[in-house]
Amino acid sequence: MTARRSVLIVGESLAGTTAARHLRALGHTGPLTIIGAEEHGAYSRPPLSKAVLKDPAADHNLGLALDGLDAEAIRSPAVTADTRGRTVTTADGRQVDYDALIVATGADARRLAAPGQRGELVLRTLDDARLLRARMADAGSAIVLGAGFLGMEVASACAARGIPVTVVDTDQPLERILGGHLSAVITARAAEYGIRFVQATGFATLTGDPVRGVALPDGTELTADLVVTCAGEVPCVDWLAGTGLADRLGVGIDHACATSVPGVFAAGDVTYLRGDGTLPDRRAPFWSNAVTQGRTAAASVLGLPSPGPPTDDYFWTEVAGLTLKIVGRLPLLGAATTVQGSVTDGRALLTWGHADGTSTVVAYGLRKPVGALRALAAPSSPPAP
Ligand SMILES: Cc1cc2nc3c(=O)[nH]c(=O)nc-3n(C[C@H](O)[C@H](O)[C@H](O)COP(=O)(O)OP(=O)(O)OC[C@H]3O[C@@H](n4cnc5c(N)ncnc54)[C@H](O)[C@@H]3O)c2cc1C
Repeated sequence: MTARRSVLIVGESLAGTTAARHLRALGHTGPLTIIGAEEHGAYSRPPLSKAVLKDPAADHNLGLALDGLDAEAIRSPAVTADTRGRTVTTADGRQVDYDALIVATGADARRLAAPGQRGELVLRTLDDARLLRARMADAGSAIVLGAGFLGMEVASACAARGIPVTVVDTDQPLERILGGHLSAVITARAAEYGIRFVQATGFATLTGDPVRGVALPDGTELTADLVVTCAGEVPCVDWLAGTGLADRLGVGIDHACATSVPGVFAAGDVTYLRGDGTLPDRRAPFWSNAVTQGRTAAASVLGLPSPGPPTDDYFWTEVAGLTLKIVGRLPLLGAATTVQGSVTDGRALLTWGHADGTSTVVAYGLRKPVGALRALAAPSSPPAP
């Protein structure tokens, strides 16, 4: 594509703004438009569950601004796309033409409320975080449904504010991703921090209208002032209906972030990397992945080679006052090698070796530059042919 042709990015957040910045950095001088659905414009989501829930001052340090990029920002959600006519229509009736389109509409929180059941709380946007923070101010108890990264971060924020909190899930906290050993250590630490865990034998449902509790399959009902659903995310693809671009997992992309439709690329939480016969379809709704794919999509739009692989496997989280940095393939299976420190002391460097010579590295409560973790995760010897 020549530098003067028009690029439209739909989704004004991490993947979209990264793509916009890289398009300009790579020499795109043509029209650049970005369509966003949130009046706040672009902002960073990881601090929502870590800082914003605890401190209103954090609201002002989230910016991912488009300043100086010479991009037109339209703040009205895209409602339809016509990939043959190469145009996207927004809720306020604008039709925006493009030569190349980057889909970066991310994901929304998965909700569990029954149709018509009011008052379900989730955490995906700045507005969600502000509402949750306000509700935390006078909550005497809380339930978090879901013991993944987000659920444990929300529970940690409740505990840090002195709110007794119960986390409910069918699996132990973080077990699906970090395996049994780390999960057990984190669950014990969380209990000391004021986070109680209840393991459900099956699907839990929200009770009350407005929501005020959770019913477990064994008939137990838990109630609290605050009930927060942290049950994963759903790719935002409704506006792509009829284009053939999206399915249940989101928008399928290849290693160049190209979709199945010519001229359309995609990046970030809205995507999944299509399987290639040896590997299955893979979703990776994490920060570093959205950045990597934003860059790759920008290069591909301009017909340039990809700057690297289309996925990045660095992730971090904060649970019960502890920071975990993880580089490498997940989920973690089997026993770890302790390279430094000890998990029981709350500071350790752990590795899990894989058959291809790479490792997954976890810095558990230990300050380590991400570069050092990446070096440790890299293949120790070339993979077998
Ligand atoms: C509370 C929270 C904490 C997190 N913490 C971590 C963490 O510690 N570490 C980590 O690696 N990752 C974390 N993540 C994940 C990380 O924030 C995401 O991977 C990242 O935001 C993905 O960026 P994105 O641009 O692909 O999608 P999103 O950030 O979801 O942005 C998509 C944007 O598109 C907009 N949009 C949707 N539909 C339309 C439409 N039809 N028209 C126009 N715009 C539309 C949305 O409003 C949104 O602004 C966290 C996420 C959340 C919610």
